[in-house]
Amino acid sequence: MTIGIWILGDQLWSQQAALQSCQSHRDTPIILIESLEFVRVRPYHRQKLVLVWSAMRHFADELRDAGWSVTYIITAESVEVPLKKWIQDHKITQLRVMIPNDKPFQDLMATLNLSCPIDWRENNHFLWNETEFKQWSNRRKRLLMEDFYREGRQRFNILMEGKQPLGNRWNFDSENRKPPKGKLNPPRPLWFEPDQITRAVIEQVNQLSLPLYGKIEPFGWAVTRQQALEVLHYFIEERLPNFGSYQDAMVTGEQTLWHALLSPYLNLGLLQPLEVIEAAEKAYFDKNLPLNSVEGFIRQILGWREYLHGIYRVMNREYSQHNWFDHTQPLPEFFWDAKKTDINCLSQVLSQVETTGYAHHIQRLMILSNFALIAGLSPQEVENWFHAVFIDAYDWVMQTNVIGMGLFADGGILASKPYAASANYVNKMSDYCKSCAYNPRSRTGENACPLNVFYWNFLDRHREKLKSQGRMNLVLAHLDKMSENELNIIRQQAENWLSRF
Ligand code: FAD
Repeated sequence: MTIGIWILGDQLWSQQAALQSCQSHRDTPIILIESLEFVRVRPYHRQKLVLVWSAMRHFADELRDAGWSVTYIITAESVEVPLKKWIQDHKITQLRVMIPNDKPFQDLMATLNLSCPIDWRENNHFLWNETEFKQWSNRRKRLLMEDFYREGRQRFNILMEGKQPLGNRWNFDSENRKPPKGKLNPPRPLWFEPDQITRAVIEQVNQLSLPLYGKIEPFGWAVTRQQALEVLHYFIEERLPNFGSYQDAMVTGEQTLWHALLSPYLNLGLLQPLEVIEAAEKAYFDKNLPLNSVEGFIRQILGWREYLHGIYRVMNREYSQHNWFDHTQPLPEFFWDAKKTDINCLSQVLSQVETTGYAHHIQRLMILSNFALIAGLSPQEVENWFHAVFIDAYDWVMQTNVIGMGLFADGGILASKPYAASANYVNKMSDYCKSCAYNPRSRTGENACPLNVFYWNFLDRHREKLKSQGRMNLVLAHLDKMSENELNIIRQQAENWLSRF
């Protein structure tokens, strides 16, 4: 039997399950395929293509240095053609693949007409595999992230003192919502100069005659495990101590604040979740770091990331098509071109995404997807947009974050209430409103902030549905106090705004 291994673009770890299962480097051919086929699906951010392809090429070189026999294919065709040829050339009788993170890719692989069977290996890029998550979820009526996170803390013995959480609390969230007051001085992010391989990919992407999005340069993302480890180390030293307090803050010109910038590397397999969590935990003990920062950061990975991945695995293929509010507004053009909006919070975040492919969590949740939710944009169009433009976007992380958390389109499978907010929140947690043409304190009138208009219009339109969500009662009580006259003005203004997009 000749086993051949196909490594996918987000499986770039020397210990990934398919590689781990084969001891003989020289006798096991490996293939990596860079295909233009998937770029035709949506207009990806140019830096995303550079990141993934450069990381793949670097990884292929690392495997060669470790003695593996590696074939690297760059093709404008589908993956099937070169894959078949490679199987034939190397007389491969079994293709070994680690189960893809993304279901659409897994489905596509199942349709390939290959001359040998595929031996699927359980994906080991997450702390909880599908079976383990199913076992956890089968035991519960509601799949609450907080319950899952606590179980994860105990299971992996992270920040524990015997059976109790360190500091006698599981969650320090309430300390992690400081608004940005005065001048904040976050450390600069760690970026890298593109090397020869990355430059070649930049050149190649520049030559593509396909619709793409965003600026390609400056490109500073890490493209190897070594560089990703440097980003991790830098984060632990310079950013983690203050990660917690300003986790939800947004400041003009400060694109990353104290956030880790690790998602692109975790999602490609260049870093593994447990090593990141353990590095943060070790820093807590060695450097006596504030527990709200360390716990807050660990919760993002051991909690949110694993939980959302688990939910994605156990949901059926229709999850992405949910549309609980029946929202059908098309995506406004300015999502593709930030210059086309004068709503400052949107313009700031969108132009940042154009330049970097990155926005931090609160920018994604409370600016971009909040707007999409309250303006009634189609969840599927919004998901498609997020998937195209973010440096760290993949199907598994997109569906749950956008359809579930951001847009509540799944009707509350994942979140206990919609993350809907008016300008009040943005004004409190950012400095964006200070330089905006619209007034965050008005909900009617010429220069009333459109977030206010859409927010109250959203509550008004979905009053009945929202009543079933217990946690919405307080805001609905405010809505009840508004006069019919004011509501009519808001309805009309919302319509005017939508017709402008
Ligand atoms: P930090 O804030 O420093 O957090 C540390 C790590 O925690 C991240 O690197 C990430 O791996 C993990 N994490 C935190 N929250 C989540 C979450 N909700 N889901 C998954 N992982 C999480 N994350 C992606 O990886 N890819 C996406 O395409 C993506 N799209 C999102 C879209 C929306 C609408 C929302 C609300 C969230 C999205 N997220 C996505 C989750 C989160 O916003 C990003 O993981 C985070 O902003 C990445 O930046 P960071 O590494 O600086 O994160």
